[in-house]
Amino acid sequence: FIAPPLIKRFSHAAAGHDGVLRDESGALIIKPCLPKEVDFYQSAASHPEFAKWMPTFMGTLQLNSPATPPVAPPAAGQGETSTPSNAPAKKPLEISIVLSNLTYGFAKPCVLDVKLGGQLWDDDAPLEKRARLDEVADKTTSRSLGMRIAGMKVWKGENKEYQVYDKNYGRQFTADNAVDGFKEFLFSGTLSEEQSKLVAKRFADKVAEIQAVLENQESRMYSASLLFVYEGDVDAFDQALQIEKEKAASKGTLAEGEEDEDEDEDDDDENKPPPKKVEDLKIIDFAHATWTPGEGPDLNALQGVKSVLSLYKQLS
Ligand code: ADP
Ligand code: MN
Repeated sequence: FIAPPLIKRFSHAAAGHDGVLRDESGALIIKPCLPKEVDFYQSAASHPEFAKWMPTFMGTLQLNSPATPPVAPPAAGQGETSTPSNAPAKKPLEISIVLSNLTYGFAKPCVLDVKLGGQLWDDDAPLEKRARLDEVADKTTSRSLGMRIAGMKVWKGENKEYQVYDKNYGRQFTADNAVDGFKEFLFSGTLSEEQSKLVAKRFADKVAEIQAVLENQESRMYSASLLFVYEGDVDAFDQALQIEKEKAASKGTLAEGEEDEDEDEDDDDENKPPPKKVEDLKIIDFAHATWTPGEGPDLNALQGVKSVLSLYKQLS
C-alpha cells in the first residue's frame, strides 16, 4: 500500500488568488491556472536564459474542485442528447501547474510580490477589464514606475509573527515614496541593518541580471511579478550565510575536474533536508505571457524592472 501524497494549503502566498496548494514536503506548489500559463512554461525550455529566472516547471495536475463534486455520468439509457436537466452546468476541470516553491528551505520566509507593467492587460482582455486595470494603473505606481507592490509578508518575530500587507498596501505609494514600501519589506523585520542591506544588494544584482535577460528576449508579459523571498529569521539567516561560505571555500580547494562529493551523495536521497537560503528571486505569474519573435524586448515589463533595480540600489 502506497499512501497518496498529501496536498496542503500553501500559506506563504503574498498576493493573488486563493487556492494555491503545496505538496507534503513543501518543495512544490500546485497552482490553478489558465492554459496560457501552461503553454508559456512548456515553451520556456527553448528560452533557457529566461527559464533560469522562472520557478522549475514540474508538470500539470487536474484536481477536482472541492466545491463542485464530479458530475455523475448520465443515467442508463440516457445518451449525450438527453434533455437539459436542472443539474448545475458542468464546470471544466481546473488545471494546475506544479512548480518549485520559492519559499522552501526558509525558516521564516519574507515575501514580496511586485507586479510588473504599466499596461496590465493582454490582447485577450475585454474592454471592461482593460478600463478597470488602466484605472488602477493610473492611480498607482504601476503607471509612473511600471510596477507596484501587489502584496507582502514580513516576519516580525516570535511575539508578533507575520505582518501581512494586502493589495491595498502597495496602492498607496507614489513614484516619490515607493522606496518606503521596499524599505518596509527589508528593514522592518528582525534582521540587523547590515543583514537587510546585504539582501538589498543581492536583490539589486539579481534584478540587474533579469534586466539584461529581458533586453535580449522577445516576449510580452502583462501582470507578471517579481517574487522576492529572504530569510526573516536571524539565526537561520546566519546559518545560510555560513553554509554559502563553506560551499564557496570547498569549491575553491577542489582541483579542476575533481568532483564535489556532496553533489552526488544526495542523488537518491528522498529525505534530504531542505536547502538553507539567504534569498531568492524569480519571475512568476505568466497567465498573460507569450513569446513574440520579431517584436523586440518587453519595454512595458522592463520599465518596472528598472524602477525596482533603482529602489534596491538606494537601499543597499
Ligand atoms: P495569481 O496572481 O494569478 O493568483 P500568482 O502566480 O501570482 O497567481 O501566484 C499567487 C501568489 O502565490 C504569489 O503572489 C506568490 O506569493 C505565490 N507563488 C506563486 N508561485 C510561487 C512559487 N513558485 N513559489 C512560491 N510562491 C509562489
Ligand atoms: Mn499574481
